[in-house]
Amino acid sequence: MNQPTVSTVSLELIRELPKTDLHVHLDGSMRLETVLDLAREQNVKLPADTPEGLREKLRLGKKTGSLVEYLKAFDVTLQVLQVKDALYRAAYELASDAAAENVRYMEVRYSPMLHTRKGLRLTTVVETVLRGLQDARMEHGITTRLILCGIRNISATSSLRMAELVVAYKGRGVVGFDLAGAEYDYPPKDHQDAFALVRKNNVNVTIHAGEAYGPASIAQALHDCGAHRIGHGCRLREDGDLLRYVIDHRIPLECCPSSNIQTGAVRDINDHPMRLYHNLGARVTVNTDNRLVTDTTVSKELHLIHTSLGFSFEDLCQVLLNGFKSAFMPHHEKQHYMRQIATELEDFARKQDMEEVYLNTSRPPGLEGARAAE
Ligand SMILES: [Zn+2]
Repeated sequence: MNQPTVSTVSLELIRELPKTDLHVHLDGSMRLETVLDLAREQNVKLPADTPEGLREKLRLGKKTGSLVEYLKAFDVTLQVLQVKDALYRAAYELASDAAAENVRYMEVRYSPMLHTRKGLRLTTVVETVLRGLQDARMEHGITTRLILCGIRNISATSSLRMAELVVAYKGRGVVGFDLAGAEYDYPPKDHQDAFALVRKNNVNVTIHAGEAYGPASIAQALHDCGAHRIGHGCRLREDGDLLRYVIDHRIPLECCPSSNIQTGAVRDINDHPMRLYHNLGARVTVNTDNRLVTDTTVSKELHLIHTSLGFSFEDLCQVLLNGFKSAFMPHHEKQHYMRQIATELEDFARKQDMEEVYLNTSRPPGLEGARAAE
């Protein structure tokens, strides 16, 4: 594995680059202070009442050993996300935080049915979050869309309800349907009715797969459920033939390196398959999964793959372009983004060259190559 001995692309520079976040959960990406604030306002008892205490209890950014353990932090954040003001604030702050590190385009996901414990209607849950995101756009210029999730360990009927909601809000800010939750023992094909409904309505599908279960889960997501993108896909490397299919069909992989370490989907960062996938020509994207629970940002994730997996500046630019290419947005809008972003990245690359900030004096594939390499 080609690991540079010196970090040549700084975190500061990465923060300036135009980015996407295509895999980010609203309920896992709140500000820690906001969780505490909302709990005080709503008289909700949390496992701790200081930022340090709560950080410790929720094991933010720490290895939890399994996806099921990792998901426990959501029990806490969901407690305070049952009223309109809280949902609005979570959405607004998430988009603002992403904009602050130059994320230009973000697809936020969550499952509206998990926010109705205090009587909110599903439509209110969707519209309030859309309003929070829209206000952040007015203020910070970040473009955001929503993906609604079914939860594999709840029920197929509830997934169908979420699919109906996706269809109802198609063209009004909701661009996709996802299946999240515990993967082991809960195969995606059990939720066929939900997938059939969204596909019949020509809506995009992404599915968490190959995170806590093997490649069979990815094959099912693609072949039985019609997924257009795969969330994580860590265990895709175990099936070379399926990996080839994913590469040949340009199926984007929503990689979330730090989250994968936390859930035990990969042993450590050096064992992450992103480098292999990228080398083989797969369309890999880098995402946060959960800014709070994983204690990360898109910039941190990109810096991590630079320092630990040897992604060069050119590799990072390719990954950034992959993000825009893989977005669930209309083709004409995507073309506009691609032109704009490629130009910006070329300017950054020129500056990098002149300042000799990184060690490779000859830039091997170049951005022209990166752009052409569909
Ligand atoms: Zn996820």
